Amino acid sequence: MRSKNSGLALSGQEVAAAREKARHMNLDGISKTADLQASLRAALSSDMVLTDPAEMLRFCRDWHGDVTSGAVAVLRPRSTVDVANAVRACRDLQLTIVPQGGNTGLVLGGIPDQPDTQVVISLERMNAIRNVDADDFSAVVEAGCILSEIKDDVAARGMYFPLALGTQGSCRIGGNVSTNAGGINVLRYGMTRELVLGLEVVLPDGTIFNGLSTLRKDNRGIDLKQLFIGAEGTLGIITAVSIKLTPYPEQVATALLGLNSLDDAIKLYRRARRDCCDLMSAFEFMPPLAFVLAREAIPDLAMPIAGDYPAYVLMEISGSGLVDIADLMERFLTGVMEDGLVVDGVIAASQAQARNLWLFREGMNEGQAKRGPHMRTDISVQLSRLADFVRDAEQAVLDALPDCVCVSYGHVGDGNVHLNVLPPAGIVAEEIAARIYKAKTVVNQVVDDYHGSISAEHGIGRLKRADFDARLDPTRRALLTALKQAIDPSLVMNPGCQLNFPNLS
Ligand SMILES: Cc1cc2nc3c(=O)[nH]c(=O)nc-3n(C[C@H](O)[C@H](O)[C@H](O)COP(=O)(O)OP(=O)(O)OC[C@H]3O[C@@H](n4cnc5c(N)ncnc54)[C@H](O)[C@@H]3O)c2cc1C
Repeated sequence: MRSKNSGLALSGQEVAAAREKARHMNLDGISKTADLQASLRAALSSDMVLTDPAEMLRFCRDWHGDVTSGAVAVLRPRSTVDVANAVRACRDLQLTIVPQGGNTGLVLGGIPDQPDTQVVISLERMNAIRNVDADDFSAVVEAGCILSEIKDDVAARGMYFPLALGTQGSCRIGGNVSTNAGGINVLRYGMTRELVLGLEVVLPDGTIFNGLSTLRKDNRGIDLKQLFIGAEGTLGIITAVSIKLTPYPEQVATALLGLNSLDDAIKLYRRARRDCCDLMSAFEFMPPLAFVLAREAIPDLAMPIAGDYPAYVLMEISGSGLVDIADLMERFLTGVMEDGLVVDGVIAASQAQARNLWLFREGMNEGQAKRGPHMRTDISVQLSRLADFVRDAEQAVLDALPDCVCVSYGHVGDGNVHLNVLPPAGIVAEEIAARIYKAKTVVNQVVDDYHGSISAEHGIGRLKRADFDARLDPTRRALLTALKQAIDPSLVMNPGCQLNFPNLS
């Protein structure tokens, strides 16, 4: 795996020696790789197997373009049986497997890091919606379905799949389930885990686990599907998912609010949950810098609020049927403005205006990416301690790295904050990498002090493996090892993702 940030200083002699060694290794490597590719083509239908490096590139590079790698091949099955055959072929050839959905993951779990021994199995061609049941409010979809396509399909039938992420136009449901994705609607509908009724999974030995039930109540022993949700492809390949739907919320009220502090945002959240009868579907916190970043990415975005405030909340209430959502939002905002919790605000008068408000939230991500490599976190702490956490962690970063800028935002209703650190412009890659590393160390220390999580929703992948490993208590490690041993004793599935298992190899 080649990282943009890695900087190795070698002498001229060392470089020459390394080149010579690589030349021999490459010659051996090339013929071995070519043999493996030929064997895969012989075992599987040839249109399933990609080996051209240019065609494989998009499967081997992460979403931000920070890391690029390679693979022996990329396999693109069209059916569950294809996946099972691909898994068996890889096992027979002693290749290991990196499953991939939309490749929007942020922790390097879905791209390979050992180009000579790993194969990517992309689910992108398994994208059929197998069934939608309007009475049952459920659907069965293949793992490669793009999230927004599922949402659009069920919306056309008056139903709603509540999972909502910035990447919903590219991420795929198998990836969402494998990362137990969160997103903006968790506070009302829960994480992906709570939206999954059943799973079909190809296990590491190629057998198919059919757990595609749509039953809502089923207490026949241990709920095995839970093992694969959030497993990031380390225990099997999810090929289909049965999902829970809800009535489509035709009424949505969206408001952008200016507040005096993050503390007030937490108070507002508590109040909104009660006053809005748990009909709140999003509550996102943004600092003033969000607007600057969003406009760096989308320059013609019109500022929705006139004044400048220390904190902003983007809030959404939604519902279907007989409730009056617009009236509820009006009355709620009148009350909280009278009480001084909200200083200023704007309610979107149309869907286009609501979309414009959300563009600030989405554009700030793009704006950060445009500023170049930076430290991204995905933290959760107890909601009651979130404001203190942000204050302490930002202060700790600025003490250690005075030339960096912190930007903290996120799904505050879930106690989930992305506290990102942007290095200054004009420094070289090694200096950026050093600052990112330092910032991560400092922030993780504060997370530990607050008994929080270093991964609220993005998972562990390869990026956070060392930090996860360092914080794992012996009982949890023993349970995870026992599970891996039981389901994937040959360590075929996504090696190096989440944990290494040295005792099993
Ligand atoms: C701008 C941006 C915003 C984001 N916002 C959010 C957010 O709000 N909330 C959130 O939770 N995440 C967010 N993410 C992260 C990402 O979109 C999610 O993790 C998403 O669920 C990944 O889906 P994917 O299909 O792209 O998975 P991939 O990136 O392809 O894979 C992710 C992991 O799942 C495994 N995997 C994929 N498919 C399968 C399968 N069928 N079977 C077994 N394992 C599989 C992979 O091996 C990998 O470990 C964001 C990412 C970006 C770039």
